[in-house]
Amino acid sequence: MSLQTVNALWAALPRPRFDDQNVLHLPGYEAHESKAIVARLVSDDLDAWSVAASRVGYCSNPVHLVGSSTTIDTTTGEVVSSYSSAEEPLGSTVVRCGNRRESVCPPCSRLYAADMFQLIRAGVRGGKTVPEQVADNPLVFATLTAPSMGQVHGTRDNGRRCRPHATGQPRCAHGRSTTCMAVHADGDEALGKPVCADCYDYASHVVWQWWAPELWRRFTITLRRILAQHLGVPATRQHEVVTVQYAKVAEYQRRGLVHFHALIRLDGPREAEGGFAPAPRQITATILARLVRDAVAAVRFTAPPVHDHDDVPRVLGFGSQVDARPVTTARRTDDPGAALSPEQVAGYLAKYATKAAADTTDHTNPHLRRIQRTADQLGRRVEDDWVATGRQGPLTDRPYGLLGKWAHELGFRGHFATKSRRYSITLGQLRRARRRAQQLVADANRRGETIDLAAMEAQLLAVDDDHTTTLVIGSWTYTHTGWDTPGDAALAKAAAAAAREHDQERAAQRKAETTKEK
Ligand SMILES: [Zn+2]
Ligand SMILES: [Zn+2]
Ligand SMILES: [Zn+2]
Repeated sequence: MSLQTVNALWAALPRPRFDDQNVLHLPGYEAHESKAIVARLVSDDLDAWSVAASRVGYCSNPVHLVGSSTTIDTTTGEVVSSYSSAEEPLGSTVVRCGNRRESVCPPCSRLYAADMFQLIRAGVRGGKTVPEQVADNPLVFATLTAPSMGQVHGTRDNGRRCRPHATGQPRCAHGRSTTCMAVHADGDEALGKPVCADCYDYASHVVWQWWAPELWRRFTITLRRILAQHLGVPATRQHEVVTVQYAKVAEYQRRGLVHFHALIRLDGPREAEGGFAPAPRQITATILARLVRDAVAAVRFTAPPVHDHDDVPRVLGFGSQVDARPVTTARRTDDPGAALSPEQVAGYLAKYATKAAADTTDHTNPHLRRIQRTADQLGRRVEDDWVATGRQGPLTDRPYGLLGKWAHELGFRGHFATKSRRYSITLGQLRRARRRAQQLVADANRRGETIDLAAMEAQLLAVDDDHTTTLVIGSWTYTHTGWDTPGDAALAKAAAAAAREHDQERAAQRKAETTKEK
């Protein structure tokens, strides 16, 4: 075992202490964890373990597999390469869990966010096979909010009070005050909770959230129609003049409703220049921002009643608060006043994409629990109705058939991060490129050669067509998930945190250097 490995792992841990009984104690760890950590650090296969752990980026729940695969050239029948988990230092192949959620696996979530960042930035600045002139196309950062489902406590600008004035009666039907004189600070528990939970419309909250993906879809259709009107072309021929591309993420607000944050880009005709052609000159980012606001305001969807007897159709739309701002890239000059930089926007979106309802919401919060309960109850009624009417057609065909299944996400069934097809590249392309690069680096290491990955970027990102000539035959068995001992889990976690700190320091250093150069 190398001294360097041991030192690196020790450095990731708190300083050990020896207490009265001369027992090793690592602050912050239970005795059984400390013991398991030390056992790993003095084990013979420490090096093998640390290689496997670093290869999966110190993932919290790695997946262990055993088996082998052979790659065959189908034109010649020749075996190109073969690989077996038996060659691995630990005797099994360890792969990342790949979870996007920060609360589940911080390292995999960071990798996901980094890929999202690359994907989003490529659609703003170009790069990663996206032409750089895409930066000249009008781009808007928009936030689409949910409407009010009842008054909730909130923070106000300039230290103003929460709800000092009653809009109607000073007391609601439940005898509660409709005003709140508090000035809520940021971590205040009251934030996002209803002023009166009995006045709050939980059923509409769940119904809105359920149809939020449909509202987004209608927004994109409406925006295309408004663009056609603005350009004076028939809606059916709009794609011959402009195309709309976007990347969007959903983010839970404290009140338990999602907001959509989206980058919306206007390109030229779909068929020209690989889909990234210049947009018509008469639409600037400022005009696009206004058209986006008009489109958001115009979106309507009539949601059917959840059940037949005592519910009504609801006309749904987005909230009246719409933020749509031009994003200025270095090359674009049509709105120098806008302060949003592409890096900022890509960073926001990447960060939001790693959260789920369960992460942003606190399980003890009575408001969020009531939303979940409402979704659950409505879902159960839909199932009961279905059973009572003789199970006609599959339950999934009913508009609210799967509502109960999404109760844990507070009724939101959409994807957290989505993009239109030609926004930029795909996550799949980025992941395949990384795997190819890792393979090339490993091969070069073995041969003692150096390799210029930057020069190979386009090749690495190329859409895969080599399975036409090679065939991979493999047989793999899943053995288990997670680290084998609490010591290994603790070491992986500490090493991941240390690696993260190291990356942040390096990023700060780089930033300081570039500002100095300017
Ligand atoms: Zn992981
Ligand atoms: Zn308040
Ligand atoms: Zn009330």
